[in-house]
Amino acid sequence: MEVIRSIRAMQETVRNLKERAVTIGFVPTMGALHEGHLSLIRRCREENSFVVVSIFVNPIQFGPSEDFQSYPRDLEGDMEKLSALGVDLLFFPDLKEIYPDGYSTYVVVEGLSDKMCGAFRPGHFRGVATVVAKLFNIVKPDRAYFGQKDYQQTVIIKKLVEDLNFDIEIVVCPTVRESDGLAMSSRNLYLNADERKAASSIYRVLKKAEEMVRSGEALERVKEYMENALSTGPLIREVQYASVYHPETLDELTSESLKRSGCREVVLAVALVIGNARLIDNIVVDLTK
Ligand code: AMP
Repeated sequence: MEVIRSIRAMQETVRNLKERAVTIGFVPTMGALHEGHLSLIRRCREENSFVVVSIFVNPIQFGPSEDFQSYPRDLEGDMEKLSALGVDLLFFPDLKEIYPDGYSTYVVVEGLSDKMCGAFRPGHFRGVATVVAKLFNIVKPDRAYFGQKDYQQTVIIKKLVEDLNFDIEIVVCPTVRESDGLAMSSRNLYLNADERKAASSIYRVLKKAEEMVRSGEALERVKEYMENALSTGPLIREVQYASVYHPETLDELTSESLKRSGCREVVLAVALVIGNARLIDNIVVDLTK
């Protein structure tokens, strides 16, 4: 596996690949790789002749009181995993390479970025959209792979690609879970044993909420159930949101607005804080099945 740290070298490599009409698949990550990341990389490996993974902990998507400094980093472990999966190239730029002194251009996907997680993490999706746009310009992939675990992120990136005319196919991959249902996340490392156990309630509540939606329960009742069940759970410090959302606009849905929208899917989504970890999860419910 080749490792490239400079944008210039990356662009040169990409130019050569394009000349040979190689299809480039790309998986952007912040490292501390787990099975969730690896599932994206496997899919990318199957569908493209050249696989690029990036590891970059993007400071501008973290708020001032968030965990940028303490975010888990494990380059050696990550490189072993990437080599074992047959990744062709790791792009691992340092901070100044991506944001040199005097950097001043930002990408904001308006409307979508202030909802759900955006309401609790001001500037987060501006940071995400900016770094993803930059990485897309550097790597110029044919396809880029993202996890459904970060549902809002996938919607924002699809809109970014559409609005800014990136010629890139966005592939969204299913959430990989631990055996008790907890969505894999680099931030699960922050949980102690009791908190880890308590975190498994998130998926149980989502599954029960899915059943309620399927049995025709009013969405207002479903939201009430989710909020109550989570906020009374042990060790859960704060439920930031737990509700039913429109899959594209990310607006909260009621039974009435669902009917008017004609949606074939709804998204059940949760963000909460356990111990020092802010965890998110979601289930997309296909209403036609
Ligand atoms: P991150 O390193 O957290 O920025 O994540 C990099 C990519 O991996 C994003 O597209 C995430 O949505 C995806 N990802 C993270 N956790 C999971 C998971 N449990 N299952 C599937 N994809 C995931």
